[in-house]
Amino acid sequence: MSPTQRDITSLIHHPYTPPDGFAAPQLGVFKASTVYFPTVADMRQREWKDKSAYTYGLHGTPTTYSLEERLGSLEGGAQCVLVPSGLAALATVALAVLHSGDEVLLPDNAYGPNKALAEGELRHYGITHQLYDPMSPQDLASKISPRTRLVWLEAPGSVSMEFPDLAEMVRVCQARGVLCALDNTWGAGLAFKPFDLLGDAPAPGERGSLAVDISAHALTKYPSGGGDVLMGSIITHEPGLHMTIKLCHMRLGLGVAANDAETVLRSLPSIALRYKAHDQTARALAAWWQAQPQCAQLLHPAFEGSPGHVHWRSVCERTPGTGLAAGLFSVMINARYSQAQVDAFCDHLKLFKIGYSWGGPVSLVVPYDLGAMRRGWPAHLKRGTLVRFSTGLESVDDLILDLNQALQAHLPGL
Ligand SMILES: *Cc1c(COP(=O)(O)O)cnc(C)c1O
Repeated sequence: MSPTQRDITSLIHHPYTPPDGFAAPQLGVFKASTVYFPTVADMRQREWKDKSAYTYGLHGTPTTYSLEERLGSLEGGAQCVLVPSGLAALATVALAVLHSGDEVLLPDNAYGPNKALAEGELRHYGITHQLYDPMSPQDLASKISPRTRLVWLEAPGSVSMEFPDLAEMVRVCQARGVLCALDNTWGAGLAFKPFDLLGDAPAPGERGSLAVDISAHALTKYPSGGGDVLMGSIITHEPGLHMTIKLCHMRLGLGVAANDAETVLRSLPSIALRYKAHDQTARALAAWWQAQPQCAQLLHPAFEGSPGHVHWRSVCERTPGTGLAAGLFSVMINARYSQAQVDAFCDHLKLFKIGYSWGGPVSLVVPYDLGAMRRGWPAHLKRGTLVRFSTGLESVDDLILDLNQALQAHLPGL
């Protein structure tokens, strides 16, 4: 017997509504493109921009609003916009605030694709860029001109891990009236608070006396924690700047999938525990590396002698012994070993997988050609082949055994 027409319609328009008051550890997943309005008048009145209502899936659902609010709290910001990747966060900031004729400044050790955006699309739109020395606030100051609209900060820099004098860099931007945006993926809202760099905010979530204007974050890393989601956030403290970014985001048609937002929401409660575990493992491995003659230089901001260690201490470790430093570090392998030997060492690792990104349960390794990434070989870095490690959540002893077997096989002792 075939169903009646009414049966089919009632599959779509069913009178049942579940009772209110469902309470459980995780929020529901709200998926929508269409959102209903009870009347046309209501449709005309609703305002989505301040999250006082829902109008369309792209403009937000209970799931995405909840994730935005929690991330805002984590980083100490007041507003948050979600985008489909960390790189989309960097690009959306640039497209929202930069106009033809403007200039953007990036540190020489910036996340590579952010430089590529400046060399590609931004240049095509008539926006110029310059690279500044990440270890010199004076160099940053000297490059700011009347055309400079935006300065990117990264702490520490991608791959080479130098920690800049973040407080001084932000002061330089403020003194010159230039927007400063931090790529806060490494700090993740845990190692330091981007909107309260001196730790003197009157209350949680309020802006301290020294704050960046924008914090962009690849949620792909620690907030996801699984190596299985791509997402980014743009957090601000000033409503006008937030609205500039939000309107650009809307016009570009950016949104995130509800299931992905829910995955990040599910991971967020454990982020502080995971971050600390990644950090402790990274420090144990970094200390091991320091004792190996194959290591010409250890690049880990929490280690004495690593470039910018004092700046890491001043921003991340106001009370001795309490600083956090993520699960990322690099080793400059002694220049007497060839790139082929270093590649073979990486290939020979079993627990460390070869792959980009970080923040998940699996330890990762990537050898980088630093010479090709920088304007010149930085004076504070020893010559050699750079290998970047990101620690997962495996046991430290097993990871050290793995490093040791590959070292013995392909980088014989000096
Ligand atoms: C990974 C990363 C990004 C980009 O994130 P995706 O989600 O992979 O696009 C941006 N900045 C930094 C510092 C990163 O490590």
